[in-house]
Amino acid sequence: ASKRRGKNCIAFFNQQMQDEAMRLMRLEEDLRQALAGSQLTLAYQPIVELERRRTVACEALIRWQHPRHGWLAPGQFIAAAEQSGLIVPLGYWVLRQVCATLVACLEEGDHAVPVAVNISPQQFRDKGFMAEIRRILAATGVPPRLLELEITETTLMDNLEATAAILADLKALGLRISIDDFGTGYSSLALLKQLPVDKLKIDRCFVQDLENDEDDRQIIQAVVAMASKLGLEVVAEGIETEPQRDWLMAFGCGFGQGICSAGPSSVEGRLRRVSRRSEAGVDPVGWATLNR
Ligand code: C2E
Ligand code: MG
Ligand code: MG
Ligand code: MG
Repeated sequence: ASKRRGKNCIAFFNQQMQDEAMRLMRLEEDLRQALAGSQLTLAYQPIVELERRRTVACEALIRWQHPRHGWLAPGQFIAAAEQSGLIVPLGYWVLRQVCATLVACLEEGDHAVPVAVNISPQQFRDKGFMAEIRRILAATGVPPRLLELEITETTLMDNLEATAAILADLKALGLRISIDDFGTGYSSLALLKQLPVDKLKIDRCFVQDLENDEDDRQIIQAVVAMASKLGLEVVAEGIETEPQRDWLMAFGCGFGQGICSAGPSSVEGRLRRVSRRSEAGVDPVGWATLNR
């Protein structure tokens, strides 16, 4: 009997795996169509100077209006995009969209803040990465200082030598570099010193529990102290409450982003300036709802 149950278990497991594989295949196919059509849009979240609550930049975040499933957050499809390799063309679509939007703002005489774009691990390692960046800058004529690239700590640490070379090229073009999700990988700040980066973004996981968790507070304090010694700006992610903001300011963290400073309505208002002409300018979904 136990043997039979074992077999059934295996059969069940295989069925689950098959379902999962099917789900991924369908998602891939849908994503291909999303890229070809106009189902993808960008939402822009302000990055603010904590002290003065002034917007100094925005982060572009992808959203997908799926024909059957409605609005999807990146957490629901980025993994499938990575797995299928579609993340690479998707990433370039985001870059082109952001650059075109920035140029449109400038042409209308609007004040444009720098926009941060997330670069996936695969895109960063793509052989054509630098060439494509150059092509997009040239084609859109965007001032490079308005473009920031966010690369996760884990991606950067994957192959330090290759990373250093690519970052040097990006810096030479005039782009700014942020380390995204800082604290979730295993890099040491000593290693970071070798890389020409401008900013550290402290991952939301250290911020969300900050009011109750002494360890999180210690980690943030240490990161901020060392980052400032290295001349790096620090942005805290996912600030949801005023007390969190207060703590972060007390630690000397200069910048932050989160629903505390920019809920859906204020995002829309601020964004209009950054992306007045973009079809995808406003956050159609709302930060709060999508991230829970
Ligand atoms: P990330 O780069 O760390 O982006 C920050 C995430 O935190 C965003 O989630 C943002 O909406 C969310 N967030 C900001 N403030 C708050 C807050 O106060 N509370 C909560 N609960 N969440 C907050 P989102 O938009 O779902 O994106 C998740 C991740 O998906 C991003 O993490 C990034 O790794 C990836 N992603 C998003 N857009 C792109 C893209 O265009 N390309 C690539 N390659 N990855 C992207
Ligand atoms: Mg990011
Ligand atoms: Mg981040
Ligand atoms: Mg994060």
